[in-house]
Amino acid sequence: MIRTGQGWDLHRLIEGRPLILGGITLPSNKGEDAHSDGDVLIHAIIDALLGALALGDIGDHFPPSDNQWKDADSTILLKQVYSLVRKKGYAISNLDCTIILEKPKLGEYKEKIRNKLAELLELNRDQVSVKAKSSEKVGPVGRNEAVEALAAVLMYD
Ligand code: MG
Repeated sequence: MIRTGQGWDLHRLIEGRPLILGGITLPSNKGEDAHSDGDVLIHAIIDALLGALALGDIGDHFPPSDNQWKDADSTILLKQVYSLVRKKGYAISNLDCTIILEKPKLGEYKEKIRNKLAELLELNRDQVSVKAKSSEKVGPVGRNEAVEALAAVLMYD
């Protein structure tokens, strides 16, 4: 059986927080405001994995009301969800992601993020795609007030 899932996330950007995308901390004077470490990309990937198997969403598994997840390292949440997926007998065929962010420009970091995701999910690099866009200075993302990420995954058993 083949199953597909999609995920989306957005976090506000505020001063004094680290900007973490795909488990990589990027140089920036603003970072994600969130209960966890705010890694929007990892959160979108988690929702894509859960969505593919109709297992609910990230909030069902890691409720923001639970202090256990305060400032949580999202890569640990991803590993937890991925092990659930593996237990259900599924493997990832490919993962395709888009990050939408005004600054910093992600060009030089895309490969680093891609490598990190491949490592976290024990995939080959050619199974993982990381794309980056700006929001053309339009809307909250364009004004550098927020960062957004999308993920699509194909899985097989
Ligand atoms: Mg989130």
